[in-house]
Amino acid sequence: MDFPIIGVIGGGQLARMMAPAATALGFELRVLAEGPDASAVPAVANATIGDYRDLQVLTDFAAGVDVVTFDHEHVPGEHLLALVEKGINVRPGPDALIHAQDKLVMRAAVERLGLPNPRWAEVSTVEELISFGNSAGWPVVLKTPRGGYDGKGVRVLDGAGAAGDCTDWFGTGPLLAEEKVPFRRELSALVARTPSGETVAWPVVESIQVRGVCDEVIAPAPDLDPAVAEAAAAAALRLASELGVTGVMAAELFETPGRGPGFLVNELAMRPHNSGHWTMDGSVTGQFEQHLRAVLDLPLGSTDLTGGAAVMKNVLGGENSDLFGSYPLALAAEPAAKVHTYGKSVRPGRKIGHVNAVGSADGVPALRRSAGRAAAIIRDGRDPLKEN
Ligand code: ADP
Repeated sequence: MDFPIIGVIGGGQLARMMAPAATALGFELRVLAEGPDASAVPAVANATIGDYRDLQVLTDFAAGVDVVTFDHEHVPGEHLLALVEKGINVRPGPDALIHAQDKLVMRAAVERLGLPNPRWAEVSTVEELISFGNSAGWPVVLKTPRGGYDGKGVRVLDGAGAAGDCTDWFGTGPLLAEEKVPFRRELSALVARTPSGETVAWPVVESIQVRGVCDEVIAPAPDLDPAVAEAAAAAALRLASELGVTGVMAAELFETPGRGPGFLVNELAMRPHNSGHWTMDGSVTGQFEQHLRAVLDLPLGSTDLTGGAAVMKNVLGGENSDLFGSYPLALAAEPAAKVHTYGKSVRPGRKIGHVNAVGSADGVPALRRSAGRAAAIIRDGRDPLKEN
C-alpha cells in the first residue's frame, strides 16, 4: 500500500513541527497556508497558499490528500461538515472540533459529562453579566466564545462598574461569563485518540502563563497529588472519547486543592498544543508524531518520559531579530538543551520558538535554568548570566 498524504489546514508552527515526524514515518505532509511566509511552508515540499474560510479552496486542497487535520481551530464548522459529506476524512471531525472552537459549547459538554467546571453562565446583555457576577461573586472573567487565543478575547472584570464598560463586546452573540478561579497553578492534560478509539495520556504538566501566554511547561507537574494527576488524565481521556476526538487533545486545567477533584477544566484544544512541546524531546513519542499516527488510525506510541522530567521554555520575540546570530552563544552555553525555532519573523511577544531541557526528576530547577538561559540568549542575543 502507498504511504498516506496528510493535509494540514494552517501553516503555523504546529504544522511545521508535524513535518519531521511525517518524514520519519514516510508520510507526505501538505499544508494549506495563509501566505508564502507562513512558518510551515519551507518545511514541506507541497504547500498551497489559500484562504481556509473559502470552501472551494478547502475542497480542492482536500481532494489531493488522504486525511485532513489542523494547525488551528478557526476553520468554519459548516465547511468541515461539507467536506465530511463529500467523504473526506476530517480529523478531528466538526462535531468534536466545535468543543475547541466554541467555549460555550465546551462548558455545556463538560457539565453534561459531570466534569468540574468553574461557575459559568451564557450572558447576552450587561444586565445578565452583572446578575451573574452578583451571584457567582466578583471578579468575573468574560470571554468571547470563539476566536480567542493567548488571552485575546478574555477580560477580567472587578465589579459591576467594569461590567458596565463591556457594552462593546455585546451585540454579536452570547458571551461566556466565568467566576475568576482562585487556582494554585495551571495544569495541562495531553491525550491522543484514534478513530478506532485507542487512547493514551502523557503525564499531567504544569503550565506557567505570563500575561495570558504560555511561558514555561514542567513535565510532570512538580509535587502534584498523584490522585489529582490520575483524575485529571482520566477526565481528559473521557472528554476525548465522549466528544469523539481524533488526534491530540489538550485539556487546560486549573489546580484547585480542596475543590472538586482538585482541578477544574479551563478549555480544550484539539491539535498538538504548546503545553505538549516538551514531548518532542522528553517523551518516547512526541505529540506531533502521535497526532499523525492518531489521525491515520495507526496504533499510538508510548507516552513514557525519556528522562525523569522535562522543561519547555517558550521563546517570545524581543529586541533581537537575528536569531541565528544568537545560536553560537546559546548552543555553547547549554549544549544539552534542544532548540526549536519556527522560521517566523520577530515581533515583540510573538511565539518564535521554544527550548526543551530533559533530565532527571530531581533536577527540575537545573532544567529550568538551562532552558531559560538558552531561550533568553536567543531572545536577547546575549547571555543573562554574563551581564554586569
Ligand atoms: P485563550 O483561549 O486565550 O487561551 P483562556 O480561556 O485559556 O483563553 O484564558 C487565558 C488565560 O486567562 C488562562 O490561561 C488563565 O490564566 C486566565 N483565565 C481564563 N479563565 C479564567 C478563570 N475563569 N479564572 C481565572 N483565570 C482565568
